[in-house]
Amino acid sequence: MEANAEEPMHLYEKRMPIVTRWVQGKFRNFKSGVLALAFAIYFLLPWLPWHRLSGINQAVAFDMVGRRFFIFDLVVYPQNVFWLAWLLFIAAAFLFFMTTLVGRAFCGYFCFQTLWTDFFMIIERVVQGERPARLKLLKQPWNAEKILKVGVTHLLYLILAFWTATTFVLYFGYAPELLKHIFTGQAAQASYIAVIGLTLSTYIAAALMREQVCQYICPYGRFQSVMYEPETLVVTYEYKRGEGEKGRVGMKGDMKTRDARQAAGHGDCIDCGICVQVCPVGIDIRDGLQYRCISCGLCIDACNGVMGSVGFPKGLIRYDSEINMKKDNPDKPHLSWKRLKVVGYMIALTLMTSMLIISIMRRVDYEYSVQQIRQPLYVVLSSGKIRNRYEIRLTNDADVDQVFHIGESGLPEGSLDLGLMKQVLVHPGHSVMVDASVELDPDQVKQYKDFKFVIQSLTNQKDHAEVNASFFSENKSS
Ligand code: SF4
Ligand code: SF4
Repeated sequence: MEANAEEPMHLYEKRMPIVTRWVQGKFRNFKSGVLALAFAIYFLLPWLPWHRLSGINQAVAFDMVGRRFFIFDLVVYPQNVFWLAWLLFIAAAFLFFMTTLVGRAFCGYFCFQTLWTDFFMIIERVVQGERPARLKLLKQPWNAEKILKVGVTHLLYLILAFWTATTFVLYFGYAPELLKHIFTGQAAQASYIAVIGLTLSTYIAAALMREQVCQYICPYGRFQSVMYEPETLVVTYEYKRGEGEKGRVGMKGDMKTRDARQAAGHGDCIDCGICVQVCPVGIDIRDGLQYRCISCGLCIDACNGVMGSVGFPKGLIRYDSEINMKKDNPDKPHLSWKRLKVVGYMIALTLMTSMLIISIMRRVDYEYSVQQIRQPLYVVLSSGKIRNRYEIRLTNDADVDQVFHIGESGLPEGSLDLGLMKQVLVHPGHSVMVDASVELDPDQVKQYKDFKFVIQSLTNQKDHAEVNASFFSENKSS
């Protein structure tokens, strides 16, 4: 299209405020249910008590000082960081799997940006009224009423943003104590920086930018199309049915019955525009699939309500696939599982999730390793004895102190020397390195060339390990 010579082209388009209409229906109910559940989990979880020997009695907590993360009975240390990497892979595979099946449904129902924006829109509606009242308020000049209503709305936005930020910080300490410290000025400086930063970012993203975050910032909206297939379920307007041969027309004159409309070549869309009014990203789904659509289904609820009220069949806008829509008589929309991509993602998800679960279940409360010091591999002492040295590393993955005893099996008595470390105390999340040496007479080397280190936790008797080791000397091969 050629640019109008008189109108300069602008690279920046001013945002038109989106004033949404409230809608009722099953997708709205589902969205509200997910919102309530997500908020309940996020805001209540730091307050859930959990008994632990270590004294951090909070179900989910990041212990920054102890460098560990508590998730109910699981303690995660920096050495378990690969679990996080695994979790991110699983989340990415799950997102791809969902997109291939049902388009951007994750964005529409589960994304933090969508959830918080949705709640901010509910606040706006409660304070300023339904859509007509809000449109009127938007257009009217700044007077006392407008200042009060807009001011209260933004005050409530800021309170919610502040509480969102504070809750996030409460995950990094014992919530009742940390909250008291935050409000009495005794919390660490980092807590205040985090609260201020997150309050502002929540307010800017969910109250001011809203759909622009999905449109301009989130990369997922841009690359999702590569995961779409003709069988993917997306929110679609049934063009043929809605437009007929001569396009859509309002419910006016003789055009009030379906038969009359069809006879005149018009479709079922009565051009009420309600599907556009309810859309949180401000698009018209009748223009076809658009990257800005977050698949929230609110336009489906809106159109179904309209169709029901005029006595036309529901489903003019629905979740359906491109392949089904192309048929002369489309089938009932359904999820299409039997596809290479879907099966591939399912296999990847199952494998990665199983491996993560197995890895977590098989974790013990401690880790150990025994390394032979190889430079030099052995030393001949002035007494004629031969000495080998070993480095034993013990890591405590439990949430309490552990004491270990290191012994041997298969060596003559008194040949193992641990210096002063007869018992080894290891603090939670920490590792201790123990230097061990074994001294043998040359004539003992052949008999004792293979032996075991025996590691026994004195804190938890079931934690016991035997590690094979070898003794090297010039006589080893003899
Ligand atoms: S077009 Fe429909 S499904 Fe897409 S964002 Fe708007 S209301 Fe949601
Ligand atoms: S809600 Fe349905 S009938 Fe109304 S404009 Fe949208 S598609 Fe047409």
